[in-house]
Amino acid sequence: MATTNYDVVVIGAGSVGVPTAWAMARSGLKVLVVDRHASPGQGSNKTAIGGVRATHSEPAKIRICLRSLEIASTWQETYGDSIEWTTGGYSFVAYEEREEAILKGLLDTQHASGLQIDWHEPESLLSLAPDLRQDGLLGGTFSPGDGHCSPLLLGHAMYEQACEAGAEFRFGVEVTGLSRKDGRVRGVETSHGTFETPIVINAAGAWANEIGRMVGLDHGIAPDSHEGGITEPVAPFLKPMIVDIKPTEGAANCYFFQLATGQVVFALTPAPVFAGFDCRETSGFLPLISQRMVELMPRLADLRVRRTWRGLYPMTRDGAPLVGWAGEVEGYLMAIGMCGHGFMIGPGLGEVLDRVVRQEMTDDDRFILDGLSPTRSFEGTAALK
Ligand SMILES: Cc1cc2nc3c(=O)[nH]c(=O)nc-3n(C[C@H](O)[C@H](O)[C@H](O)COP(=O)(O)OP(=O)(O)OC[C@H]3O[C@@H](n4cnc5c(N)ncnc54)[C@H](O)[C@@H]3O)c2cc1C
Repeated sequence: MATTNYDVVVIGAGSVGVPTAWAMARSGLKVLVVDRHASPGQGSNKTAIGGVRATHSEPAKIRICLRSLEIASTWQETYGDSIEWTTGGYSFVAYEEREEAILKGLLDTQHASGLQIDWHEPESLLSLAPDLRQDGLLGGTFSPGDGHCSPLLLGHAMYEQACEAGAEFRFGVEVTGLSRKDGRVRGVETSHGTFETPIVINAAGAWANEIGRMVGLDHGIAPDSHEGGITEPVAPFLKPMIVDIKPTEGAANCYFFQLATGQVVFALTPAPVFAGFDCRETSGFLPLISQRMVELMPRLADLRVRRTWRGLYPMTRDGAPLVGWAGEVEGYLMAIGMCGHGFMIGPGLGEVLDRVVRQEMTDDDRFILDGLSPTRSFEGTAALK
């Protein structure tokens, strides 16, 4: 029976839990991470395609992801591991007035939040992504500091750094309950005993509601499934991530980029969404996305697809995460509802959570917590969710 005391127990060794544990261990906190899987990143993290952007519509997410970009883009020079980082930028393209208006309408907020991004007329955009279809192109945004890397490599590298900094990880451990006394958290009950702690961080991703129910809270996370795929490797031809937010039959958007190793990875948001936990691939995904991608970039028609997969987005009502203490249960901190952006949010958010726990928040942290508060009004939907 485990009885060790920890300053913090993090539930979930995924996109959020691993960098959070790393940040806290660096600050000297005694932190334990528990996960039901046998190794880190086996929930949604390994299904991400690896995009890291600060091009968002909510200022809180922009600020977090600007820090994530710093961490990811300097990882190799700081820690030595290759994570296949590429600063290729993100380009959101517009072939219709609707998309042009949405993208241009976000620029003021994005600039005010410190994001380097500009609208490019067709000729300029084509100089950045020459293989885009020219016919009907109205232009698009380009944010040069965004990029991508391998979620498997970065996830593992952060896990190793967290261990080196003193964080403990226990795998194959299922959380079954949270013990409380006098309205505050006292410990985490698991398949392998109880771990005592005054602070629990729910970083359980698509499964966060299960943990919430253990303290009588309904977090309202609604998981839905998304497919991704990867082609054979080819010579470099595409630098930015291309994102098309135009809704078409069966898909709300589509996005793709070329990895440092030559393969093109791609994904879309199905419309209507596939609600629930089903992660079996569908026969409809490849015909749908290949048609969209070839329409956007005819040159892709000859690429052969190597494999597809399906993973979960932990969705919230408005498409933005839920981050903050639960007023009802002292010591219970939520870092959930990452939707389609947990991999890019994780590194920056981990540092914010560390300061929250140590009560050393900056003005920026307060701003972020305000924007992502679990008790916000949930009016509207994030434009780039
Ligand atoms: C096709 C696809 C493409 C994507 N592309 C991107 C992208 O380019 N960029 C990006 O930022 N995001 C992307 N995402 C989204 C990203 O994968 C998720 O937002 C992110 O992984 C969620 O992180 P998380 O830490 O909240 O959850 P996870 O990484 O799933 O971690 C949660 C962990 O909690 C553990 N857990 C849950 N309940 C318990 C319990 N009771 N006991 C013990 N352990 C428990 C789970 O085992 C899991 O390991 C993509 C997703 C998909 C499906």
